[in-house]
Amino acid sequence: MSAARGILFWIALIFLGVMLWKLVSSEKRPVDSVSYSDFLQLVENDKVREAHIYLEANSVSVVAALRSPSKNVETTVSYGDLQDLKKHLIESGASVEYANTKQSDWVLILLNAAPLLLLVGFCLFLMRQMRGGIGRSGGSVPLNRLSRTGIGYDLHRLEEGRKLIVGGIELPFDKGPAGHSDGDVVAHALCDALLGAAALGDIGTHFPDTDAKWKGADSMLFLKHARKLLDEKKLAIEHVDAVVILERPKLGPHFPNMREALGRALDVEAARIHLKAKTNEGVDAIGRGEAIAAYVVATLVPR
Ligand code: MG
Repeated sequence: MSAARGILFWIALIFLGVMLWKLVSSEKRPVDSVSYSDFLQLVENDKVREAHIYLEANSVSVVAALRSPSKNVETTVSYGDLQDLKKHLIESGASVEYANTKQSDWVLILLNAAPLLLLVGFCLFLMRQMRGGIGRSGGSVPLNRLSRTGIGYDLHRLEEGRKLIVGGIELPFDKGPAGHSDGDVVAHALCDALLGAAALGDIGTHFPDTDAKWKGADSMLFLKHARKLLDEKKLAIEHVDAVVILERPKLGPHFPNMREALGRALDVEAARIHLKAKTNEGVDAIGRGEAIAAYVVATLVPR
């Protein structure tokens, strides 16, 4: 369907080009006004090649093309003198034609543009019909024009002696997430949301925890790599929304720094990243302070 729309667009564009070319290239010789006696002199000297006679309400307008010099002249003659003039013109070998009422340039332009306007209108109509058809038939927007949403989730156990890294910053606390890397649940869930939206697998596909290279790794590296993959697929990050679930410590005061850190890693404005915090109301492992988890939804748009 998009190919058909493209073809219609190019047809309309070509017609528009031809139209403009015709308008620009049309020969428009200047017309000199001359008195009736001067005009008669030109006729007498066989200078007039052809004459167009326009009958108007109270007089007759005559536009003539001269043999030499090559230009147009115009004069006004009374109805009483018209037959005489016509006779002189024919005797001098000029062709004589009665023409329709003269039209101003804008009328001519409008008349010329009318078919083009009709064509553009028809093309727009067809395009609307096609779009309607797509909706009715349950078709889909082409993948390269799709905005996409991805979801990510991560959970890590909290252990004493580990740094508590959340959203790219370290928080003062006596426990931190156990894990192969730094265990940043926000970064990991965010990475999965981005990869999911781009249909690029998950964090384990790109950074397997069996690879010693990622042991203790800064999770911001994962985000930087995800951003590179999105660039290759010509996808941009429109918005990220996250929920972090942790019993203690309070995360809210650290959100501005986290958003800045995540924004830097992804090379997007911090304003595109939204963070929220929840506790688990003392329930289950998170509620007992034994784990931290995060959910992230990311929206990507084509660039
Ligand atoms: Mg993880």
